[in-house]
Amino acid sequence: MALCSTPCALVVGDGIAGQGAALVLARAGWQVWLALPRPGKPAAHRRHAHITSAAVIARLERSLGKAPGGWAMGRALVWDEAGRREAGARPIIGAEALRLSLAAQAAAAGVQGLTDCTIVPLAHGAGWRWRARGKAGHADVVVDATGSGHWLSRMVGAAVMIEELAGTDRAWSWTGINDGPDRPWLLAARERTQAAVLLREPDGQVRLTLRAPQAAPPDPLAALDRLLIGAGAEWTTWIGSLALDPRPLRHEAPLARRTLVGPDPALPPLLRLGDGLTQTAPRLGQGIAQIAEQLEALAGALAAALPPGQWQARLDALAERRWTGLMLGTGLMLGAGLMLGAGLVRIAA
Ligand SMILES: Cc1cc2nc3c(=O)[nH]c(=O)nc-3n(C[C@H](O)[C@H](O)[C@H](O)COP(=O)(O)OP(=O)(O)OC[C@H]3O[C@@H](n4cnc5c(N)ncnc54)[C@H](O)[C@@H]3O)c2cc1C
Repeated sequence: MALCSTPCALVVGDGIAGQGAALVLARAGWQVWLALPRPGKPAAHRRHAHITSAAVIARLERSLGKAPGGWAMGRALVWDEAGRREAGARPIIGAEALRLSLAAQAAAAGVQGLTDCTIVPLAHGAGWRWRARGKAGHADVVVDATGSGHWLSRMVGAAVMIEELAGTDRAWSWTGINDGPDRPWLLAARERTQAAVLLREPDGQVRLTLRAPQAAPPDPLAALDRLLIGAGAEWTTWIGSLALDPRPLRHEAPLARRTLVGPDPALPPLLRLGDGLTQTAPRLGQGIAQIAEQLEALAGALAAALPPGQWQARLDALAERRWTGLMLGTGLMLGAGLMLGAGLVRIAA
């Protein structure tokens, strides 16, 4: 095993956070390896429609140096109890398309993939030793981008604590094809217990996400019809025909979860980001925003030539702010629910 001549990093996890971090590090002159997962089931959330804001796209572009790709501005329509509203244009992301675009840019920047990687911390915080199929090496910092399983932090023996906010989100997602006019669009509809987001990517791929409490998948077209009842038949005229894969993917997640790692001076630099740091329910739509914020912070730490041992503190400060916001938000929702409940009791009395 040779120590690297340039600073070197091992990123574990090939999601948007992992590919983004690998790209930021490689562009800053680091030698980067990316440990790939064992081939298996594709991550369910990559089939979901992702919505974000123009500010998040701008942030991604700032830290990644050029357009990240995998997204388009879509015409957004919203249906709810108030009927149909035009919500202007919103950035719509195919999560898998964004991930693949980052992966292609990371590979072009020199990031090398590793399979069957094992990682061991070296004594006295002197970096990490890794071994993969036919290769071995040293890393100054390891990046845990393994998502909500935060697999790596547990594997290397870090003191992991998980905190969850009460509440669960259950969603179903379908992929499909739309033969309507060749333009991206986004359609959102909601009522009290169900919500739907239907996204058409520029190439005609369709992703439908239904948030629904029931354990069995709802009939997607019937659910859309019911949610869009105020729109009558107009929505099908507007959309064109829709062919959906009959096998939906199910996703169930806590409202929010964060992973804390206790300080351990014996552990070499370990950076944690993405869902492995804070995971939020899809309806909160914070995932990509969080990653964009973290990549910007990482790029800032690299530009300021901070040692890797100080990077996590920057990301933790951002995660703490998000968590406080989430707690305040859910506290307000609970408070409003209690007040409403009390009001109803008074009226009934
Ligand atoms: C239904 C749904 C809808 C969503 N909608 C939105 C939205 O509208 N807007 C938004 O901003 N966000 C949304 N999100 C959140 C967003 O998808 C996530 O926040 C984001 O994709 C997380 O990326 P990540 O790279 O941190 O994790 P992941 O994408 O989970 O990537 C982690 C990767 O690490 C790999 N891995 C795990 N263990 C190992 C190991 N031992 N070795 C190597 N690799 C490993 C996994 O296979 C995976 O590929 C949604 C999420 C869901 C579930």
